Amino acid sequence: MSRSYGLMWSKEKALEFLKVWLPDNIPEEVRDDEFCDEYQRTVNRVEYEFERNLPCKPRLQKGAKHIWDCGWCGSVIVSGENANYCNACGHPILWDEIRTLTGVKEGATKEVD
Ligand SMILES: [Zn+2]
Repeated sequence: MSRSYGLMWSKEKALEFLKVWLPDNIPEEVRDDEFCDEYQRTVNRVEYEFERNLPCKPRLQKGAKHIWDCGWCGSVIVSGENANYCNACGHPILWDEIRTLTGVKEGATKEVD
């Protein structure tokens, strides 16, 4: 059973509200250093959580075998081309081409030197 969160904006609109509208409407007497620090930490967390859920491209390690690293955390993707998510961080993996052990299309991935 999923939880109902009520009406919500898109990620872009929510970030715009948080970063553009809100700072202009916070009274000056509230904006001390502690408040500004907490506000920035909140913005950082929201941006991080939004980005964390976006699929990332895997990175290929050069070598005799094809070993893929998570494009988010850098951990080896243990299940290789069969993985839809990183085993370490749970980030969705975005494969550009048909998953194969034979090679990588140009521009499909960023190779690790
Ligand atoms: Zn990862």
